[in-house]
Amino acid sequence: MSTTAANLVTVDALTKVYDTRRGLIARALKRSDYLVQALNGVSFRIARGETLGLIGESGCGKSTLARVLVRLEAPSSGHIVFDGTDITALAPRELTALRSRLQIIFQDPYASLNPRHTVERIVGLPLRIHRDRDRGAARDEVVAMLERVGLKALHLNRFPHQFSGGQRQRIGIARALIVRPEVVVCDEPVSALDVSIQAQILHLLLALKRDFSLTFLFIGHNLSVVGYVSDRIAVMYLGEIVEIGPARDILTAPRHPYTQSLIAAVPSLSPRSDRAALRARGEPGSPLRPPPGCRFHPRCARAMPQCASHAPQLRETAPGSSVACHLFDSPKETA
Ligand code: SF4
Repeated sequence: MSTTAANLVTVDALTKVYDTRRGLIARALKRSDYLVQALNGVSFRIARGETLGLIGESGCGKSTLARVLVRLEAPSSGHIVFDGTDITALAPRELTALRSRLQIIFQDPYASLNPRHTVERIVGLPLRIHRDRDRGAARDEVVAMLERVGLKALHLNRFPHQFSGGQRQRIGIARALIVRPEVVVCDEPVSALDVSIQAQILHLLLALKRDFSLTFLFIGHNLSVVGYVSDRIAVMYLGEIVEIGPARDILTAPRHPYTQSLIAAVPSLSPRSDRAALRARGEPGSPLRPPPGCRFHPRCARAMPQCASHAPQLRETAPGSSVACHLFDSPKETA
């Protein structure tokens, strides 16, 4: 994958494998019993100012990708290039500097906020770490940011448990944006909220993206939510990107059978007879023992013999759109 000047983030062949061995019994285990392949050869790019949506079922590796991208975890292999610099193997001091430019908003605002810290400390700490502000200066900036996300100065001395879910997510957003990052990874930022609050937080995120010239990786499992905020969408299945393209194309004319199954699973008031045929069979496989060949083949209604033995490559099928599926192999490859 080439890196162009317009691409703020380029991810190339990223892999994350977890070793789950514990204790003495570990030596007797086979590799397939303890190695979890959370990410397998993930590649994509995000242009400056763009929102790339990332969608897939629970456990497909979306949150792992979020944590690896902002370097809360190290990848097992592959590369992450941010603004022209390979950040895959930075030293701890360089990572600290990077974190002010690359922030994350977590799914569960309550779990991600220290319950013993006041809002002033939670939101102000990144300023003191990354911007070397004294307490007075940090307080002024914290108040300004709280007001920007819909909270008030009177909230400074309160603790996370004194807020509603939506307010807690506003605190998480303020904490992420206080250091003026360039890229924000939004890891299911509205999934834990009541439906009535979700729209408020989405609109807030979109306004902040515009005002602060942000670039987003927006992760979710709700197609409507991800489609609403995204310019392009990447679809992930069992640790691999299976389709990526403009949001409108993914939502209205999906090509990969897994993407089609996700669209078909969205409840509709005008049921179409072909929706049931497109739905995936059974449950997602395990990243501990992913199926050989195409990882989706045990669930795919259109599987062919080669699907169980040969892994399809992600390849461009139209300008800006790529699919990993043998249905799109060239006639020469199929022969
Ligand atoms: Fe289905 Fe085969 Fe395409 Fe996989 S490669 S999605 S099994 S048709």
